[in-house]
Amino acid sequence: MNSELNQLYQEVILDHNKQPRNFHEMPGADHHAEGFNPLCGDRCTVYLKMDGHKIGDVSFVGSGCAISKASTSIMTTAVKGKSPEEIEGIYGKFHDMVTGKMSKAEAGTLGKLQVFMGVSEFPARVKCASLAWHTLKAALENSGEPVTTEEAKDGTSGA
Ligand code: ZN
Repeated sequence: MNSELNQLYQEVILDHNKQPRNFHEMPGADHHAEGFNPLCGDRCTVYLKMDGHKIGDVSFVGSGCAISKASTSIMTTAVKGKSPEEIEGIYGKFHDMVTGKMSKAEAGTLGKLQVFMGVSEFPARVKCASLAWHTLKAALENSGEPVTTEEAKDGTSGA
């Protein structure tokens, strides 16, 4: 692998680890889910606000290794404005990349996410890089009323 490129990728990962983007709780989120990677001790909570069928806003909090934190940070910048179907597609490609099933040229189509290409050389780190995506999918599938528990949905209010 090109070592200059590796270095650039490392810098991006370290930058996102040090200054994670969208790193805050989200009061009034439509969805949220917690993720935990016991192999490394990485934890994250992902918050979503939907805009129709697409993700209007996304944020996270958590703690863990540099890979997991940077991966969650970069993920939040990559999924805004995307539908669950689009996210499924991106995650499929991301997973192929971090498990070494993708060529460098193909990884190039993943934009910023390609900085995790090197993870394929460290199988123990694949879960660190994937935790964000598992948690995002769990959040999308959670159809409940997470934060605003006040709103009754059973129709007894007579409204
Ligand atoms: Zn980790």
